[in-house]
Amino acid sequence: MHRTTLALLLLFPVSAAAQTPQQSTPPRTYVIRAAHLIDGKSDVVQNDVAVLVQGDRITAIGRQSELASKTPSGAQIIDLAGATILPGLIDNHTHVLLQGDITAADYDEQLLKESIPYRAIRATAAVRLALMNGFTAIRDLETEGAMYADVDVKTAIARGVIPGPRMFVSTRAMAPTGTYPLLGYSWELKMPEGVQIVDGPEDIRKAVREEVKYGADWIKFYADRRYYIAPDGRLRSWVNFTDEELKMLVGEAHRLGRKVAAHAMGWDGIDAALRAGVNTIEHGDGLTDDLLDRMVAQKVYWCPTIFVGVYVAPGRGGIWPKMVDLERIAFGKAVKKGVMISYGTDVGGYAWTENQAQEFAYMVRYGMSPMAAIKSATSVAAQLLDQSENFGSIEVGKLADIVAVKGDPLADISELTRVTFVMKGGVIYKQ
Ligand SMILES: [Zn+2]
Repeated sequence: MHRTTLALLLLFPVSAAAQTPQQSTPPRTYVIRAAHLIDGKSDVVQNDVAVLVQGDRITAIGRQSELASKTPSGAQIIDLAGATILPGLIDNHTHVLLQGDITAADYDEQLLKESIPYRAIRATAAVRLALMNGFTAIRDLETEGAMYADVDVKTAIARGVIPGPRMFVSTRAMAPTGTYPLLGYSWELKMPEGVQIVDGPEDIRKAVREEVKYGADWIKFYADRRYYIAPDGRLRSWVNFTDEELKMLVGEAHRLGRKVAAHAMGWDGIDAALRAGVNTIEHGDGLTDDLLDRMVAQKVYWCPTIFVGVYVAPGRGGIWPKMVDLERIAFGKAVKKGVMISYGTDVGGYAWTENQAQEFAYMVRYGMSPMAAIKSATSVAAQLLDQSENFGSIEVGKLADIVAVKGDPLADISELTRVTFVMKGGVIYKQ
């Protein structure tokens, strides 16, 4: 054994997992009591509820008096009194390895002045914040130049080394040469790339295989850039890949059992992504009636990431404030047409210290009912992840991913920015 390793072992004789608070000795039995329950699926709020948690799963749900007889001796009672309990929240668009990039300079600074290990350390703080804010699962949509560090963060969480949400990762994401930062530097310099640069179908086939090899659960690519408002008022864009390239990307990903997320903001990018058969559209500011109808027909999910647009628009200026307006209109139409809208925030595009639950208020303001907004971050989001069997609702047999808020989130959706209790897989992280 290397001397340094031995020294470390002597300094830290217990495993890191054992040192993390509240990660102790499963299986435990809990009875969670609360005044109200929103299960993530039903539109009806249940009252005077108790949830029995044994090990990492929910084993019974009922009225408090009903459940008393089913409760094994030794169960720990958690009385949340007047609170409302809900399924753990799910954010389907995050960047744990990014710490806000309002301007190009913010972005470049992170890639140029922070090592990947340092960025991974910052990511551990980000995932902890997410969990404490009630997010028990996230889909992380690319590492922005930090290679496969998302897989490492995911592994550390899964092994109990650090607290954080369940992670579904996409590793490096793809864009062709010259379309993604870092850009604008002297040709004499070899700059780091924010994505995996791919050109041509064969390059893409290899990149998909490589990303899957190193742990990608999803494949992400950038469908467009250079957004502009056309005379007809539509948000248009320059498309990054040829149809032949996208056919290969989606085909190869699907062949390997991975779904595909497309960054697509303008009409042209969304059109290209839908023609290629992607599974989710990210941002989608330029969605119009025709595109929304195609999304419904093709059963494609939309992660609108509203708050990040609002947040970065003043700093970026130019077309960005107009894009915020267009997305608001598109969102209202999408709700009416029944597009599958999944909660997705792009947190990391703004600082993790801004609670990612702020997105809810925008969804409701833009025309979604509070209950539908909650479902978009629970059952609908779990469906997008193909995880409905495991989480996304409070039901018998599901993983015990449960959060609570003091007030009524249906009366004031911003209650979800004040989560007071967090359980993930039967382990309490916040109480
Ligand atoms: Zn993003």
